[in-house]
Amino acid sequence: MSKTNKRYALALHGGAGAVVGRDYAAVEKHLRELAGECEALLADGRSALDVVETAVSELESCGLYVAGRGSAPNTAGYVTLDASIMHGPARDAGGVAALQGFVNPIRIARGVMEKTPHVLLVGTGAERFARVHKYTEVNDPGNYYLVPVGVTKEELTNSNAHGTVGAVALDQSGSLAAATSTGGIFGKLEGRVGDTPLIGHGTWADDDIAISCTGTGEHIIRAGGAISIACRYKSGTGLTDAINEMLGEVKRLGGDAGVIAITRDAEIATPYNSDGMKRASVSSQQELKVATFVVEGGQ
Ligand code: ASP
Repeated sequence: MSKTNKRYALALHGGAGAVVGRDYAAVEKHLRELAGECEALLADGRSALDVVETAVSELESCGLYVAGRGSAPNTAGYVTLDASIMHGPARDAGGVAALQGFVNPIRIARGVMEKTPHVLLVGTGAERFARVHKYTEVNDPGNYYLVPVGVTKEELTNSNAHGTVGAVALDQSGSLAAATSTGGIFGKLEGRVGDTPLIGHGTWADDDIAISCTGTGEHIIRAGGAISIACRYKSGTGLTDAINEMLGEVKRLGGDAGVIAITRDAEIATPYNSDGMKRASVSSQQELKVATFVVEGGQ
């Protein structure tokens, strides 16, 4: 079925750390509404870059996910945030890592991309940059951060538990973009940084493919992450197989993960090998789908 002649596509994830038996109705409702809003922007001709930034900003601000407001503290007792964004056409990219005290790390990542000659700023340098450019600060960290829906105290100190948010999009001009943001894994050591802010690991976009990863960052990095999927895809491996090969490496190394990806042909894939991944996808050719666990008939 063709909804429109203009071609666009979008996928969102709310993390591959879904726990079997937990009720994700509120998360799925939120993903459905957000995907609908983002689809309207793409149908209206907005750029993939703007749409992934808008989507991830909302996912960070709402407190339902382990990113932005829903992030858990590290073992030293404070929240640090990682994010990255990439725009396919010129492979422009920006990221922040180990950032404290800002509402939307993804907006700052875009600032790094557009306002500096660098790709990644970390810690106090990233915070100084964000302050100079007047990104919104968290005024009262003690009251700002929320424990994401259903997460238990035990999970907060269990280093296997995790969650992240991400978005990939193809716009009507044929441009691809990807964005990913996280509070990291629970129980992380002070100073720990995972795959999310690393271009080529947590996030990738070029002329052919846009990718956002979620899962145990240490394993995603060691498995080659997003860029290894892009290379497989460009060498002729089908999209889902290319992703599953990287996910297989993650599993072999002892972790689990999930990926959302869109190609220049508007093909969407959302595989994972954790218990579940909160996700939504829609395109000019595909009705909106939202799920957390396995659904009959595919992703
Ligand atoms: N990949 C993120 C990290 O390792 C966590 C996640 O996606 O759940 O920081």
